[in-house]
Amino acid sequence: MTAVVKGAEPAEPPVLSRHWGEPESWTLHSYETHNGYAALRNALQQSPDDIIEMVKASGLRGRGGAGFPVGVKWSFIPQTDPADPDAPDPRPHYLVVNADESEPGTCKDIPLMFASPHSLIEGAIIAAYAIRAAHAFIYVRGEVASVLRRLRTAVEEAYTAGYLGYDILGSGFDLELVVHAGAGAYICGEETALLDSLEGRRGQPRLRPPFPAVAGLYASPTVVNNVESIASVPPIIRNGVDWFRSMGTEKSPGFTLYSLSGHVARPGQYEAPLGVTLRELLDRAGGVRAGHRLKFWTPGGSSTPILTGDHLDAPLDYEGVGDAGSMLGTKALQIFDETTCVVRAVLRWTEFYAHESCGKCTPCREGTYWLVQLLARVEAGQGTEADLDIITDVTNSIVGKSFCALGDGAGSPIVSSLKYFRDEYLAHFDGGCPFDPHASTLFSD
Ligand code: NAD
Ligand code: SF4
Repeated sequence: MTAVVKGAEPAEPPVLSRHWGEPESWTLHSYETHNGYAALRNALQQSPDDIIEMVKASGLRGRGGAGFPVGVKWSFIPQTDPADPDAPDPRPHYLVVNADESEPGTCKDIPLMFASPHSLIEGAIIAAYAIRAAHAFIYVRGEVASVLRRLRTAVEEAYTAGYLGYDILGSGFDLELVVHAGAGAYICGEETALLDSLEGRRGQPRLRPPFPAVAGLYASPTVVNNVESIASVPPIIRNGVDWFRSMGTEKSPGFTLYSLSGHVARPGQYEAPLGVTLRELLDRAGGVRAGHRLKFWTPGGSSTPILTGDHLDAPLDYEGVGDAGSMLGTKALQIFDETTCVVRAVLRWTEFYAHESCGKCTPCREGTYWLVQLLARVEAGQGTEADLDIITDVTNSIVGKSFCALGDGAGSPIVSSLKYFRDEYLAHFDGGCPFDPHASTLFSD
């Protein structure tokens, strides 16, 4: 945990969220007033390869959870014909923006699209230009109808202004951008399930490799990037690589959006350089709710192992959270105070995974079902200590043995809660849950 966080003190002015509070921030007029689409004009005067090199040099890492370097992913898209290295790749290339934000506690992409849809659209046009794609899709979680409407209106504005369609800004570059609504399945946020869904099939993960960069949408080279990753590209083009790298840490440069929820005085989205700590973010958010203290928290939604008050100073970047024994994930910081029963919280999350399991592989389909039965028995005070061994066995049969990351995610809160709060599980065998179900306000029914 020796990362040097540049730009953390004093707090950097926000970049992505800077204009969210302004009236009609979502309109093209408002976006252009703040230098909107200047990065696109700049990018179109450079070669696609130069843009890829710039994004690579910035060190921007994917903001969807895994932190894969964005420029490196773009560079995987083949640019020449495998049969003739002097000819361009004859296959179509696709850009797909993963806007199916569904990880419990994660609420950054949806507010971003709601308040500043043009930052995503501008980033998507630049990304498509860089990977030489003539078609791009934004796959939006279907339940968020208001965001869908706003995004579609913004796309229409961009077409009318000549930022989309044929010969964009006289550059000779053409791009069609389609906003597609998902149907509310968590698994469709997994990139290959998303591609199946986009192709009109039931969304279930595909075997990787091949990764989408090699065979993605309609079996063609495809970049799948998260909303925040793509919206981070225009500021990098406008302000340069050194500016971006002046924030965050060496291996996790730049700024990012953290979502704070749960028992916190002022929940919401907080933009900060990577490497900020939960202690610093809680200071900005007014701390844990009045009169209470931190018990446990998730760094990146429920798919990442929980942490405790001992980890308040862990740098929230891809390395620092790993050193603390968890993962940065989606940067969804869910805060729980001492009134929360950890067993009840874990049961609630496990019910979610059992419900959202797509059923393709046995360890996850069967395992999450049985974990719900076991955890419910423990939580109701009807279990025995032997149940904890069975829960551990079943979890071990899922983690690392499932077809996609959903199975691993389901195991994370169970393994970590048993590590830090085994005594609390044991306390349930002596007369049931020792917590007042109404005191926590979270996971109480
Ligand atoms: P991953 O590490 O397998 O892949 C990350 C990205 O890098 C993918 O786009 C993948 O195609 C690409 N990639 C990796 N290796 C590659 C290679 N050798 N060649 C080409 N491309 C390669 O992670 P994942 O399974 O895609 O995602 C898991 C993450 O998703 C978790 O960390 C979790 O935090 C996050 N998640 C996010 C949400 C949300 O709502 N945003 C929901 C659930 C999970
Ligand atoms: Fe489906 Fe779960 Fe298997 Fe993923 S791990 S393929 S969600 S059953």
